[in-house]
Amino acid sequence: MKIINSIFLSFFPDISACFTTRHGGVSKTPYTDANLAFHVGDDPIDVLENHDLLARTMDYHRHSLIHMRQIHSDKITLVDETFTFDTVPECDALITNRPNIPLMVMSADCTPVLLYDSVHKAIGVVHAGRAGALNEILPKTIIAMGLEFGSTPSEINVVLGPSISGCCYEINSSIAEETRAKGYPEALRFENEKIFLDVNTILCMQLKHLGVEKVELVNECTACHHDQYFSYRADQQHTGRIAGVIILR
Ligand SMILES: [Zn+2]
Repeated sequence: MKIINSIFLSFFPDISACFTTRHGGVSKTPYTDANLAFHVGDDPIDVLENHDLLARTMDYHRHSLIHMRQIHSDKITLVDETFTFDTVPECDALITNRPNIPLMVMSADCTPVLLYDSVHKAIGVVHAGRAGALNEILPKTIIAMGLEFGSTPSEINVVLGPSISGCCYEINSSIAEETRAKGYPEALRFENEKIFLDVNTILCMQLKHLGVEKVELVNECTACHHDQYFSYRADQQHTGRIAGVIILR
């Protein structure tokens, strides 16, 4: 499967991490061709084959991978050995300090976030779209890693994966008003009576406020580059999902 790596996280020998692209799988149109989500209408046999291809690429057992039923919430799940591939907790963030349990977040325009605390050996994944970002799912996950593992924000490496950017994410005035009211006017862009939102600006403001310093932005707009990534907006909603994956070895 065709993946892209985080520059930050590739320096740590005790983890593996990647973001997938839409290439290197077996799914057919409109899920061509590396869709990893079961809920979007794709043939489940093809989705399972894509998961197996990714497991081989990343060198883990597919049954040990934990993914989520993502609901644009601020709900976080602490993962341990009782979870399996078929558990699928309903939440938007996963955290663990257990080795050999790959954590996965899926997305098509929302920001997939990978977290790694190299001091306390703990990892996390976060699904942060507009609603999740405004509900502070990312800072809440970092605080949860503090409570569970003793992580401090300055110890956590954060990678924001491919997602729709302020160039392409047009919003209406009520969302703009909500964004402004919650304290993120910098995330808004106005052009020819249109309003655009950059979710990663919100996430970076939240990280800075918490004291997270180690932040990497992949900086690939999924709508501009929907030939490389699935994009809910650019692909007119009928599309697959890419993923961010992180594993503590
Ligand atoms: Zn764009």
